[in-house]
Amino acid sequence: MDATPGIPPAVTEETGPFWAAAREGRLVVEQCASCGAESFPPRGICRSCRGRTMVHAEITGRGTVYSLTVNHQRWLPGLQVPYAIVLVEFPGHPGVRVAGRLRGCPPEEAAIGMTVDIGFEPGPGGFAIPSFVAAP
Ligand SMILES: [Zn+2]
Repeated sequence: MDATPGIPPAVTEETGPFWAAAREGRLVVEQCASCGAESFPPRGICRSCRGRTMVHAEITGRGTVYSLTVNHQRWLPGLQVPYAIVLVEFPGHPGVRVAGRLRGCPPEEAAIGMTVDIGFEPGPGGFAIPSFVAAP
């Protein structure tokens, strides 16, 4: 598969563990060591209690589409359009929603409430970019 065109993500102290896990095909989010709240994207601070000691929790299993948009604009040369971007939430992980491209079905079939698998795609700069695959 060709790498997705675009600009490589900026890696910070907070997002480094996320990108490292993505490279291994794992989706990790921040979890507060004090109150246990999970959040995404990583910011190094708990949105619930403002704690600053964050550990990482891996999300496995399927998610559900919470919201979506279909992009028809060719923002970059080589970008294949249209495609759907979905915002996905996961059972047992309140507070976490992850956005990514939807694969495995035509964009017009993307729907709120549909079940998706976590997947990763080769992205710019050798990064693995989170995306989602329509579950059968
Ligand atoms: Zn907390």
